[in-house]
Amino acid sequence: MAPSSSPLLTSESGEKYANVKWEELGFSLTPTDYMYVSKCRQGESFSDGKIVPYGDISITPCSPILNYGQGLFEGLKAYRTEDDRIRVFRPEQNALRMQTGAERLCMTPPSTEKFVEAVKQTVLANKKWVPPAGKGTLYIRPLLIGSGAILGVAPAPEYTFLIYVSPVGDYHKVSSGLNLKVDHKYHRAHYGGTGGVKSCTNYAPVVKSLVEAKSSGFSDVLFLDAATGRNIEEVSACNIFIVRGNIVSTPPTSGTILPGITRKSISELARDIGYQVQERDVSIDELLEAEEAFCTGTAVVVKAVESVTFHEKKVKYRTGEGALSTKLHSMLTSIQMGLVEDTKGWMVEI
Ligand SMILES: *Cc1c(COP(=O)(O)O)cnc(C)c1O
Repeated sequence: MAPSSSPLLTSESGEKYANVKWEELGFSLTPTDYMYVSKCRQGESFSDGKIVPYGDISITPCSPILNYGQGLFEGLKAYRTEDDRIRVFRPEQNALRMQTGAERLCMTPPSTEKFVEAVKQTVLANKKWVPPAGKGTLYIRPLLIGSGAILGVAPAPEYTFLIYVSPVGDYHKVSSGLNLKVDHKYHRAHYGGTGGVKSCTNYAPVVKSLVEAKSSGFSDVLFLDAATGRNIEEVSACNIFIVRGNIVSTPPTSGTILPGITRKSISELARDIGYQVQERDVSIDELLEAEEAFCTGTAVVVKAVESVTFHEKKVKYRTGEGALSTKLHSMLTSIQMGLVEDTKGWMVEI
C-alpha cells in the first residue's frame, strides 16, 4: 500500500527540510509530522497500516502493555547520502528480532515484509526530517504493544504496531569515550528471563542504576551476569567488546544480552580486516586488563570506552586515533552514509 496521499503532498509541496537546527541535535525527541499505526487481532495478520499525524494515542486502561508490560520496541536509523538518497540500515534484521521477541511474549508480530514496508512509508512521510548528509540521522522507533482489553495475566486479544521517528545527533555528548561504572548490586537480566529480546520490561529496572551512575559523573552502567557476578554482559542499551592484540571478544548471546545488529555488523567488519572475533564469556578481570573496550548499538554507533570503574578501581583504555573502535566506527559509518560501496547489501533504499 502506498502511504495515504496527504504526507506525500505535504512534503512535495512544502520545503525540502523541516525547520530544525541540525547542528544542535542530540539524542532527544524532536516530534515529526507523521507516524504509522496498524492493528491486528491476536493470531491474525496485520492489515495495511495508516500514516497518520504524529500525536497521542488512545488505549484502554485494561491493556496488557499498561498493566503487565507486554510490549517490544525496536530502533534503527535512516541516513541521507550526499547525493540525496535516503537509506535504512538492515531493517529486516529488526523485523526478525521483533518476531523473536513476540514469540517470547506471546504477541502477534508483523511479517518481515510488512515491517520493512511500514518503516519505508514512515520515513518517506517524514522525509524532510531526515537530517542533511553528515549532520545526523532519522531515528526510527517501531513499537509492538498488547493493546486489547483483558484483565487477567494473558496475551492481549489485540496488538498495535506503531512507528514514530525523530531526527537525532550523538547519543553521548562526550567526545573521547565513555566512562562506565560496573554495577555490582543490580542485574539487568538472568537466564530464562527476557534479556535477549527488546522487551519494554528490561528498561525501567536499569534506570535506577543509570541515574545513580550519572549523578556521580559516569556516562553509563555496565552490568554483570546474575548467575556468577563474574562476567560482563552489556551496558544499559548497548553491547560491549574488548580488544587484546589481534583478538576482539564480546559476550555470547545466550539469552541474557540483546543480540545487537550493530554488534553483529561490527564483528563482521572486524573479521574483514583480520581480527579474530570471539563470542564467549568475558570476565570482569579480563575487561580490567584489556587494551581497549568499546560499545556498539544503533544509538551509540561504535563508541570507545575511556574508563571502567569497578568498586574503587578505575582503569583506562586506548581511545582516539590508534584505537580499533575508531577504525570500525569509520568503516561502519562510511557504509551507512554511502561514502563507500555497500558490498554487503546492508542498506535499503527508500
Ligand atoms: C537495542 C539494544 C542494543 C543494541 O542493538 P542494536 O541492534 O545494535 O541497536 C544492545 N543492548 C540493549 C540492551 C539494547 O536494548
